[in-house]
Amino acid sequence: MGQKAQYLLTGILKCRHCGNNLQMKSYMSWNEAHYVCSGRRQSAAFCGNSRHYDKDRLEEIVMQEVKETILDAGYLEEYYQQCLEEMKKEEAESARNIRLLQQQQQDLEERIDQALEMMLDRRLLKDKLVSKLQEDEKRLAEITDELEHYGAKTVPTKEIWIPSVNN
Ligand SMILES: [Zn+2]
Repeated sequence: MGQKAQYLLTGILKCRHCGNNLQMKSYMSWNEAHYVCSGRRQSAAFCGNSRHYDKDRLEEIVMQEVKETILDAGYLEEYYQQCLEEMKKEEAESARNIRLLQQQQQDLEERIDQALEMMLDRRLLKDKLVSKLQEDEKRLAEITDELEHYGAKTVPTKEIWIPSVNN
């Protein structure tokens, strides 16, 4: 009696005639197991491939192939190197972004300081300055968030008091 079973190569091997997965077909009483086309199993009219591939033989061939192409040919080393390079690239990219954001953060803090000083000197219209200051504060908060996202240790932003526009 036939029995459906999952084996090593189930879902990996495809029938060359119809493209369906090869599936395990085992006969416990005969102590035999084969891979057969799942399309053929459903309908002989669908696929003409009636071959029964011996399980042990097929798995041995595939494992030999895996060993030669993946393990022996240095495939994994190459893959590992690629991953490593990708990681380094991402790290460099992050470092660049962090430097850029820190520079912007510093610029904004300086501008806010200057604006506050000017405000004290009453050299500019207060309303205009306050809205400009609020824009800078907003951007500074965004940059600080972004830097936190990078997990960068940044100089703590100082508390800045913004006078009310209605004063
Ligand atoms: Zn088939």
